[in-house]
Amino acid sequence: MGDQLAQGLVCRPMSRSAATPEKFAPAPVPATRDLNRVRKAAAECRACPLWANATCTVFGEGPRDARLMLVGEQPGDQEDKLGKPFVGPAGKLLERALQEAGIVRDEIYVTNAVKHFKWTPQGKRRLHAKPNAREMAACRPWLNAEVIAIRPKMLVCLGATAAQQVTGAPVKVTQARGGTLDTEWGVPALITVHPSSLLRSRAFGNIEEELAKFVADLKKATQ
Ligand code: SF4
Repeated sequence: MGDQLAQGLVCRPMSRSAATPEKFAPAPVPATRDLNRVRKAAAECRACPLWANATCTVFGEGPRDARLMLVGEQPGDQEDKLGKPFVGPAGKLLERALQEAGIVRDEIYVTNAVKHFKWTPQGKRRLHAKPNAREMAACRPWLNAEVIAIRPKMLVCLGATAAQQVTGAPVKVTQARGGTLDTEWGVPALITVHPSSLLRSRAFGNIEEELAKFVADLKKATQ
């Protein structure tokens, strides 16, 4: 395994004083393949409104020579607080699925389509809200920088938002699942579900069945 990238920046509430709610400059992506520099620049990004209600930018993590890059939708509540991707309940399920698929998490790069947590309040809880097309477009330059820096052999899109961000077009996961789509980087993108959908299937008592299908999809990414 190559050098491990720096693991997240210290999470801190971003300053609201410099906010200009109506005007958003493009994402300040530096022209470099040095991912640590890109990560530091992303920590200051205000290219869409999502930074204002989040604790910090949650950038991707993983080794520089990762062959697989997994792309989720956006950080969740715990990821936002810890500044690390996939550390909440869906992340734990992803970890289990990776193990069952024979994939070592420390050898892959894990990131999200959008780097700030979008949420709506419900009592004391912060409920996930789906990023809109404008927010996704504003955030795509960061994913582009990650793909160019890592140059993975395969991208794995976890859910429809990730698939759209990676391929540049809407994707019906139910139809495309288990197959690959082309990307502008010349790297194939395997389509599968987001692990949070497995958590929802728990309510219907069929999580093991859905987990087995997810593991089968992940195995295809290593072939
Ligand atoms: S979600 Fe992406 S584009 Fe929007 S402020 Fe955060 S890092 Fe920047």
